[in-house]
Amino acid sequence: MPVTPSSIVLDARSFAPGGCIAFPSGPASRGTVLVDAGHGGPDPGSVGTTLDGRTVAEKDLTLPVALAVASRLRTAGFSAVLSRSTDELGSTIESDDVQNGSLTTAASQEDLVARVRCANVARADALVSVHFNSFDDPAVTGSETLYDVDRPLAPRSRALAQSLQTNIRAGLAALGEPSPDRGVIDDSSGSEAGGGDLVLLGPGVPGSNDEPSAMPGALVEPLFLTNPADLTAVATPRGVDILAGAISSGVEDYLDEERR
Ligand SMILES: [Zn+2]
Repeated sequence: MPVTPSSIVLDARSFAPGGCIAFPSGPASRGTVLVDAGHGGPDPGSVGTTLDGRTVAEKDLTLPVALAVASRLRTAGFSAVLSRSTDELGSTIESDDVQNGSLTTAASQEDLVARVRCANVARADALVSVHFNSFDDPAVTGSETLYDVDRPLAPRSRALAQSLQTNIRAGLAALGEPSPDRGVIDDSSGSEAGGGDLVLLGPGVPGSNDEPSAMPGALVEPLFLTNPADLTAVATPRGVDILAGAISSGVEDYLDEERR
């Protein structure tokens, strides 16, 4: 979904061009969803290879999925907000934030904090972050969705995560690539977190993440980029479309249920 005249730049001073962009729905909005495309710019995320030898970086798959999720949500009557809408990170990156061709740990932390700030500025009702998993063994496969268990928001985040997980597994089955259920899990146990709470989903940390995300949130890892068969199935226009449909349905189902 391109940045159009109908889109709104939220807090332009705090974000890079293309960062934190809102796509408002009509006046009868069903809610606001922050759609976060993992990685970007100098941070490629993990990298996989398809069965026919095509190299795919995580950031190049999270973006089209997130754009398509935003488009679907908007069509369904939700306002969608993207933390990044181009290949670049939505946060402002200085030249010394990139060393030896990759993002420094400090800059990566600042970027994650900026994604949280975008969700809070947007007053989003839900936050969904799109990532893909990776592992040394290319045979490892399956879908998992992460949420933070340590916060008052945890029961709502868990419901969001379960709705996403259920819809994603149904979508992958429809794609002919049924995915083992690795479950809805504690965010500190995922490979993205390295043993701590995820900045995106976790509680505040004085001095580094002073204003934690204020809404239920989940981070999806629909499949392993390092599994060539899984990557081959999803790194196609149809795969992206099916995954985006599953993620937007997962958010819609959750928000509808919460309203009941
Ligand atoms: Zn990732």
